[in-house]
Formats: sequence, structure tokens, C-alpha cells
Amino acid sequence: MMGTVLYGPRDVRFETVADPKIVKPTDAIIRMAASCVCGSDLWPYRGAQPVKRPTPMGHEYCGIVEEIGSAVKTVKKGQFVIGSFFASDNTCPHCRHGYQTSCQNAESVGGAQSPLLRVPLADGTLVGTPEMPGAEMIPSLLAISDVLGTGWFAADAACVRPGKTVAVVGDGAVGLLAVLSARQMGAERIIAMSRHEPRQRLALEYGATDIVTERGDAGAERILELTDGVGADSTMECVGTQESMWQAIQSTRPGGYVSYVGVPHGVSLDGAELFYTHVRLHGGPAPVRRYLPTLIDLVWKGEINPGKVFDLEVPLEKVAEAYRAMDERRAIKALLRT
Ligand SMILES: [Zn+2]
Repeated sequence: MMGTVLYGPRDVRFETVADPKIVKPTDAIIRMAASCVCGSDLWPYRGAQPVKRPTPMGHEYCGIVEEIGSAVKTVKKGQFVIGSFFASDNTCPHCRHGYQTSCQNAESVGGAQSPLLRVPLADGTLVGTPEMPGAEMIPSLLAISDVLGTGWFAADAACVRPGKTVAVVGDGAVGLLAVLSARQMGAERIIAMSRHEPRQRLALEYGATDIVTERGDAGAERILELTDGVGADSTMECVGTQESMWQAIQSTRPGGYVSYVGVPHGVSLDGAELFYTHVRLHGGPAPVRRYLPTLIDLVWKGEINPGKVFDLEVPLEKVAEAYRAMDERRAIKALLRT
């Protein structure tokens, strides 16, 4: 088949790769309904994370089960399924506590920017939809696989509750869906930090009540002004840089919660500075698997439309253009038609 491979900075190629095969009896192969480019794919694409060898790209997926291994019990051939970027057994102690991305048997899923994908630990990883979805639902179902699942974890980890004041650092797809998630969880005030007009518009549509365009220390000061000098109850950090992390911490009131779901790049926190902020930190790779049933249900009932974060759609063979558009911030998130 043809698939997406990253060779080095800004060198992404669509080329012949090996067809995925059942390697272990617990594997499944799925035929992708669509794929997409993740904000985290941009780190290696931009050279911020070195690529040592040609690497198959893509970790967000949904589609129809094409083949199952001999030990797969609950996942059926022909079923429409969604999974997360880490395969998990969903039975070990960490999974039972809801941290499937720390599964004792976790395996990463890669190579999803292609027509077929091997998913390890299929029974623990994949969740089916009630029926075969229509084409119009695919973008939202695909969003669940990572960006919505991650935004939802951000809101959950930041203990967003009805009536609370929430701030979101980062206006990428995850930040925008963190806004949507906070709205679903009943936050009263949602302050989105964004300086890009199309992203501000989507943030407002998803439930943001205020937009802050300042960044870093100035951004945190603006949050304090907007909250009578108190700070947000919950702040969600959806970028992963030193500036965004510290901005999130400074925007939060003593006793408040900071969640961080942007993969950290060069972030280090000073223990003494952190000590005096009095904030509670919780983050990490989102255990999307925990939320799949809830999120599939919300999309299925039409209560949320996370698929709107895809503002560019290109055929899979034009994947290099999708990377360029996201790198240059011409697109929030690109959907790849397989
Ligand atoms: Zn596990």
C-alpha cells in the first residue's frame, strides 16, 4: 500500500510501504475511514524532535475492521471502531484506574496516515459505534481518537465543574476541544487564549466566553484582571512549551488545578517557584480509551461536533500539503481522505 513516511525536517513522503499484517493473535487490521495530521506530528516535522530513521506517521484513526487475530474476542470483522494512539489491554491495574496510556502492556500505534492500520491489543483498545456511521459523522468520530479525547482529559484532569472559571492556553485543535469539553462539563466562564481570528471564532462557537490575545506573563496578568485578581479555578495547558506551561500555572488561583496535555518540549519547572503557586498539576498522555464510550455517545446523539476543527481536507496522497498547511498555520487541522 501507499503510506506516509517522515524522513527528516519538512521531508514527508507518500510512498510504498509494507501492508500491515496480523503480528500477534490479539491484533486487528482496520481500513481507515479517514486519517489526519496531529499537532504533535509537527514537532518531528519541524525538526524539534529528531527523526533517526524514516518513520511511518499518523496515530489518529477510525474505520472498519478488516481482519482480526485468532485471540480477538469482542472486536468483529466489518465493525466500525475507534481507538487511541496507545494500545492498551484495558485490564491491568493502571487501565482499571483509567490510565490506559500507562497500561503495563501499552504499545504505541503508528502509521495511521495510510489506508490500513495494525492495532495491537484490539479487544482492549478499540470501541465500536452503535451502527455504521454516515460519511458526515466521520470527522467527529476521527476527532475522538486523539484531539477530542485529549481536550476532554485536559478538562477532566483540571477538575472542571459546573459554575467554574476556566482558562485554556493554546488554540490548536486540542485547545479548541478543551473549550468544548469545559462547556460540556458545565464551566460558567471559559477564557480562551488565542491570537488567531478563525480559531477565536471556533473557540467562541464551542463555548468560550472571553478571548485573551496576550501571551506569557502578559497573558497570565490579563487572566488575573478578568478574574478580579484571583486567577482561574482550572487552567488547561495545550501547547507544551516553557512559556505556555508557566503561563498556565500563573493564570491559576492558589488551590486551583492545572492540567497539561501538550507534549512538553524543553519545559522545566523550578521547585521553589512551583511551591509558592499552590496549584495542583495533573497531565500526561491522555488516556483517551477511558473516554471513548462517553465521547462516541455524545457524537452519535449529535450533542457535540468536534469534527469542525478540521478546516482543511485533502486526499491522502497530498499528505505533504496537509503538513505544510498546518506548519504554516494556514489550517487548524487537516483531514486526509483515504
Ligand atoms: Zn493495561
